[in-house]
Amino acid sequence: MDGFDFDVGIIGGGPGGSTMASYLAKAGVKCAVFEGEVFERPHVGESLVPATTPVFLDIGVMDKLERAGFPRKFGAAWTSAEAGPVDKMGFQGLDHDFRAAEILFNERDQDGVDRDYTFHVDRGKFDRILLEHASELGATVYQGVRVRGVDFSEPDARTLHVKIGQKDVPVRVRMVVDASGRQCFLGKKLKLKEVDPVFDQFAVHTWFDNYDRSTVTTNPDKVDYIFIHFLPVTNTWVWQIPITETVTSIGVVTQKKHFKQANKNREEFFWECIGTRPELYDALQAADRVRPFTAEADYSYGMKQICGDGYVMIGDAARFVDPIFSSGVSVAVNSARIASEDILAALEADDFSKAQFANYEGKLRRGVRNWYEFISLYYRLNILFTAFVQDPRYRLDVLQLLQGDVYDVEEPAALCKMREIVKEVENNPDHLWHGYLGDLSMPSAAPTF
Ligand SMILES: Cc1cc2nc3c(=O)[nH]c(=O)nc-3n(C[C@H](O)[C@H](O)[C@H](O)COP(=O)(O)OP(=O)(O)OC[C@H]3O[C@@H](n4cnc5c(N)ncnc54)[C@H](O)[C@@H]3O)c2cc1C
Repeated sequence: MDGFDFDVGIIGGGPGGSTMASYLAKAGVKCAVFEGEVFERPHVGESLVPATTPVFLDIGVMDKLERAGFPRKFGAAWTSAEAGPVDKMGFQGLDHDFRAAEILFNERDQDGVDRDYTFHVDRGKFDRILLEHASELGATVYQGVRVRGVDFSEPDARTLHVKIGQKDVPVRVRMVVDASGRQCFLGKKLKLKEVDPVFDQFAVHTWFDNYDRSTVTTNPDKVDYIFIHFLPVTNTWVWQIPITETVTSIGVVTQKKHFKQANKNREEFFWECIGTRPELYDALQAADRVRPFTAEADYSYGMKQICGDGYVMIGDAARFVDPIFSSGVSVAVNSARIASEDILAALEADDFSKAQFANYEGKLRRGVRNWYEFISLYYRLNILFTAFVQDPRYRLDVLQLLQGDVYDVEEPAALCKMREIVKEVENNPDHLWHGYLGDLSMPSAAPTF
């Protein structure tokens, strides 16, 4: 191979890395994944959106996911702790407490999506299936092998330095894909990482066995939805995600300052927050916790650039936004999909300069900007989000975003309208919704990174 060990070296075997490997191997490219851990390993981030479906169908892994028996996710629901009337401000179709809402994915057709559900997944098992699938398609997969460095000094080749046992082994490749997740291998090495100017969230999460999911809904068809429970604490919410028939993932998301001010350990903080929703507290206390409390902090960031001569970054290695709408795995696998097209063209042209990855950079930034703005608007005025979900004029536009259908739309209709209304509420202190504005203020333009 002209002195090359592989055409493409992929750092990390999470959903981003393994999906990239599958696309490339399917196209006959000699590629290798270097994964530092040995799978199965635990990982936060368990609820998917339907925009993952076309990718799973493309790479041929869908049947394996179906056979794994992951809980099917047909819809999503948001519940609110607050009582009392809120002025409806001319919105249509709102029920008595429009601070709660729910959607079904099958209400809107989505290109390439052939079923009316996606999945909630145990990431240990899910990531293993994807990685093994890449290997079956012909990718070389190394587990328990960390990448320690990348040498970009040669003009037409990159050398990965991987640690095998005590040895540093050089691996020569034409180009590198960074799929190292929130470890941001290249972003840190090349000093491209920038913290988000607005979001500094902190999450504490764990799994419970035998939590009674019907605590939050009397409808048996809805118990396996993802539930987002708003807490009466600013910018704080709880996820409820089914992992198996009896195991449920529960996580509290808040701002780091709330955690610091509370001066409590993770467990105490978790229960203090959950205590603001007594029905949840009682049901979780009666369940059996089966995982330690784990924290994730400061997870929102971007990169000054997500590609360069001889490399691209995908998934969390490129960008991370708040997980309120379960966007992460979808961004990881879709970024792999889009970037793989540019990589195939670069291999064909034998040109790995930054310009070759412009299509990827443009599409990913557009998709993530749409997610970012949606999340920002949601935090700024969350009653607007639930009003939009309930109002038939806007419901399908919001659903488009919740499905993760964000990569090919320049200006999603829901975002334009929501942005307009938020401005109106911000600029008018007498507006009946002014008091509901959250204190996370979106920058005048979404960050460009
Ligand atoms: C609190 C929280 C809740 C979330 N909830 C959801 C959710 O419900 N739904 C959702 O879709 N997303 C969720 N996410 C996001 C989701 O976890 C990520 O977006 C997703 O895992 C990204 O996939 P990835 O392949 O880019 O990275 P990862 O899945 O993190 O994979 C990266 C891999 O690279 C390996 N690696 C790192 N450095 C090296 C190295 N130097 N050498 C070799 N290997 C290396 C790691 O071991 C890891 O296996 C959540 C995130 C957080 C923080």
